[in-house]
Amino acid sequence: MRVDILTIFPRMFEGPLQESMMGRAQEKGILEVGITDIRDFAFDKHRCVDDYPFGGGPGMVMKAEPIFAALEYIRHCFHFPDMRTILLCPQGEVFTQAKARELAQLSHLVLICGHYEGIDERVRQKLVTDEISIGDYILTGGELPAMVVVDAVARLLPGVLGDVTSVNDESFSDGLLEYPQYTRPREYRGSVVPEVLLSGNHEEIRRWRRRESLKRTLLRRPELLERVRLSAEDIRFLEELREEK
Ligand code: SAM
Repeated sequence: MRVDILTIFPRMFEGPLQESMMGRAQEKGILEVGITDIRDFAFDKHRCVDDYPFGGGPGMVMKAEPIFAALEYIRHCFHFPDMRTILLCPQGEVFTQAKARELAQLSHLVLICGHYEGIDERVRQKLVTDEISIGDYILTGGELPAMVVVDAVARLLPGVLGDVTSVNDESFSDGLLEYPQYTRPREYRGSVVPEVLLSGNHEEIRRWRRRESLKRTLLRRPELLERVRLSAEDIRFLEELREEK
């Protein structure tokens, strides 16, 4: 997969993209990331990328021309038919694991990071295919949201994670929150690992984990249960859990 990020703060990506999973995905050649400084496509001598809003009001708005020019340059260099142009934007669709899975199927993503009061509306109208918000709060710019999206998508690309089953097991993969995890030592400061996890009985461990997943989801995010396809065993577990409450 190729990801191009359009930003006015390219240096913000220097550390995060080189470390951990995103770094490893690039080393393995599974992910290729290009950072484009929008200022390189500004046409005046001050490399100006923002201007006052028409109609007045506070703050500045990012100009359309440098973003159009940067995107046209990227389109000229790369020809992936399934390219998607994503605006990071608090007004967009809230990012979910399902959206990360959808994007992980594609060959080319272009992420546009806004700043100031946002971006000239014509960018949204003419260039953008998707608008993504990472939550109902306002950040200073789209760079952190872009990193969130790239991280969530990159770890789903085949070959990035050592153990593919971990992607299927974790929170949201099947619509539920993940069960509690433990590692050594068996006892720590008086708190012990549940006996079943030490039993070696795979069926018992599966049942315990499923029940704990349902329990966590019921307690913390009950609305998620409305969208999950539940088995007869799940329904029985949930009845027990509701009685315990
Ligand atoms: N005035 C805009 C509004 O009310 O919708 C907010 C602009 S915000 C200060 C500047 C930029 O940060 C946005 O253009 C966007 O790229 C990014 N941003 C801020 N919060 C975000 C969020 N929750 N999700 C995604 N991007 C966000």
